Amino acid sequence: MVASGMFWRTLIAALLATSPALAQPVAMPDCTADGVLSDSEGLKLEVTYRCRAAQPLSFQPTEDRAAQYVSDLKVEQRDGAAEAHYSFDLSGFARAVDSTSVAVLRGNSVLATLGGWLLEPRGYDRVPVIDIRMTTGSGLIFATGLPKVGDAWRLSGIPVRFAGYTALGRLTYRELAVPAPGSLRPGQPKADAILRVAILDGISEAGRADLFDWAERTAEAEANYWQGFTARQALLGLVPVANKRGVGYGRTVSGGGVTVMVEVGVDVDRRRLFNDWVLTHELIHTGMPFIRGRGTWLMEGAATYVEPIIRARAGVKDPTRPIGDALLDQRTIAGIGNLWRAESCWDAGISPWRATADVSDEEALAVVSAARPRMLAAAAQGHQDRDHRVYGRAGRPCPRCGARIRARGQGDDNRRSFWCPSCQP
Ligand SMILES: [Zn+2]
Ligand SMILES: [Zn+2]
Repeated sequence: MVASGMFWRTLIAALLATSPALAQPVAMPDCTADGVLSDSEGLKLEVTYRCRAAQPLSFQPTEDRAAQYVSDLKVEQRDGAAEAHYSFDLSGFARAVDSTSVAVLRGNSVLATLGGWLLEPRGYDRVPVIDIRMTTGSGLIFATGLPKVGDAWRLSGIPVRFAGYTALGRLTYRELAVPAPGSLRPGQPKADAILRVAILDGISEAGRADLFDWAERTAEAEANYWQGFTARQALLGLVPVANKRGVGYGRTVSGGGVTVMVEVGVDVDRRRLFNDWVLTHELIHTGMPFIRGRGTWLMEGAATYVEPIIRARAGVKDPTRPIGDALLDQRTIAGIGNLWRAESCWDAGISPWRATADVSDEEALAVVSAARPRMLAAAAQGHQDRDHRVYGRAGRPCPRCGARIRARGQGDDNRRSFWCPSCQP
């Protein structure tokens, strides 16, 4: 029995020593950090650190501006262990910093990098493994991109200061199941990855429903391209911004777990969400090596190249978008201007106001086929101002059926669309 036990232990030790994949998971963390999130005149954190360490440790803020929001820091060191406790004014910190790259406050919710509020244990001769647990007051939520190990979120292999985003407070939170990395390869068993979506305070219920739908469909489009989503778990933090109707700045931080921040206009416009490229672009970054410095162009170039391919393949664009509007979008199809939009829709007998989803492949092809010879001829002749059937002819009779041609502004630029209400249903 003893010999046999020795044998297995030696074998396992040998395996652990030679296989980095097996050696990585640490059963016991170096530190546990227990947080209590409460809401009393703003979001407050109480954090208790317990670390195993033969040497003395210190606990330091990683953000300069965080120091003044830390209070009652007490550190006790004895018998190979260090214990630290502190209070943190999370809302105060996020309000003061007010940057979607570090920390922002929206209503009663905060998006902040982990190092914004978690002190970093210093004194180890290697990067310590930290298990984070969070108790939240009623109605409050804690969300992170870190993997869950037992009842804790585990930070390993990366110091606190480089860790990704966390979202805390009055969030609208949902865990979306998306195909796991590699699971869409032929012959692979089905498996799910989890995309955790946290929407900060300040967006209507209908707007939040649109945001979840957008996140899910964009993640599925990525998964279809990469034969599975780019991570086993990821956090997407959506931050409402005022005076914006579409999508703003996006940023990916993949420290310890994948996290993505995207700014969205407070008044969510479903069509603008689905026509935007930022979320698709950021999610591509999560599936690629992160390159800093002079090689950044390579990473950005690759993401910029792949993004329209993913969106076009997935058809993630809003199905309610009118065909006349889609035709002017140079990302959908290049070269069609206002004139050719009107003329080719008339040729194909399709109203420019019809929803894209209600246009069949044959009809879409008819529109494009009608545009092509006319555009070529115009390019050859050097002008495009003769023989218009509807363009510029509002109020005059349709050459096909005689009905009165109509005109109205369409799309974001409100450029005039011309059509015959009778023979272009
Ligand atoms: Zn980028
Ligand atoms: Zn007509």
